[in-house]
Amino acid sequence: MSRIAYVNGRYLPLAQASVNIEDRGYQFSDGVYEVCEVRGGRLIDERRHMARLAFSLSELRIAMPMSEAALSAVLHEVVRRNRVRWGIVYLQIGRGVARRDHAFPPAGTAPSLVVTARNMDFAAAEAMAENGVAVVSVPESRWARVDIKSVSLLPNVLAKQAAREQGAREAWFVDSEGRVTEGSSSNAWIVTRDGKVVTRQADHGILKGITRTVVIAAIAGQGLKLEERAFTLKEAQEAREAFITSASQIVLPVVKIDGKPVGNGAPGLVATALRRDFHLHAEAS
Ligand code: PLP
Repeated sequence: MSRIAYVNGRYLPLAQASVNIEDRGYQFSDGVYEVCEVRGGRLIDERRHMARLAFSLSELRIAMPMSEAALSAVLHEVVRRNRVRWGIVYLQIGRGVARRDHAFPPAGTAPSLVVTARNMDFAAAEAMAENGVAVVSVPESRWARVDIKSVSLLPNVLAKQAAREQGAREAWFVDSEGRVTEGSSSNAWIVTRDGKVVTRQADHGILKGITRTVVIAAIAGQGLKLEERAFTLKEAQEAREAFITSASQIVLPVVKIDGKPVGNGAPGLVATALRRDFHLHAEAS
C-alpha cells in the first residue's frame, strides 16, 4: 500500500506529493509543524496540539490555512487513508509560495499545508522503553524562541546526528551555564535522589511539550512532587532517574548520560509508571 499525503487541497500518493520550489517553507524554513501520536487510529491530545499550533502561527504571523474543524477532518482522513493504528500524524504549515524575498509575501498569499501519517513499530518502541536509552550533551546553539514549533531545525538535526554517531538516542542541549534545556526532539526530565520530578520551566528556552503537559498531570495523579526549574548536566548524571518525553516516544527512560550510568543504570520506577499511566491523562479523538 502506498502512503498518502495531503498537500494543499489534494490527497496524493507520496511519490506524487510535492511542493513548489518557491515555497517559503523550503526556501526559508518559514513554517511551523505539529506531530501527534496516533493510537488505535485516534489522535492523542489533538486539542492541545491545535492550541500550540495556533500559538506558533500567531507568533510568526502566519494565517491558519483552514478552520480548525476542517484541519481536524484532514488529519483524521490522512490517518485513515494510511491505515495508521499506532504511529504519528505530521502537519506542516508554511507562509506559502512567493518570489524569493526575505520579507513577508504580499497579503493574501495562501499559507501551505502538508499532512502525512505513518505507522511505527510498537514492539520496538516498547523494547526500547524496557531497556532505556542513552543521551549525550551538546552545547545549546539555537535561537531564542524555541517555544515556537518552527520547522527551522538545523541545530536539532546536527544534535541528533551527534547523538547517533555516539550510539545514543537523543542529544540534550546544555546552555552556557551548564543547565540542560531540552532534547533535540524531546523534553528532558530527572528524578532527584529525594524523589522530586524536575523539568525545566516552560519559557522561551524550551518547547512546551504537549507530552510534558500531560506528564505533569500524571505526576500529580501519582502524588509525586514536581519542580519546574533548570537542572545541570551534573545533577542529571547524579540523579536517581532521567527520562525524555515527546508525542512519538511518550515517556522514555534515560539510562546513560555522556557515557555515565544514571541511577543503577536501568529504567527508573517513576519513568516506567509515568509511561504506563500516560494515556489515562491524555485525550483521544
Ligand atoms: N522539544 C523539542 C525540541 C521537540 O522537537 C519536541 C517534539 O518534537 C518536544 C520537545 C516534545 O514535544 P511534544 O511532547 O509536544 O511532542
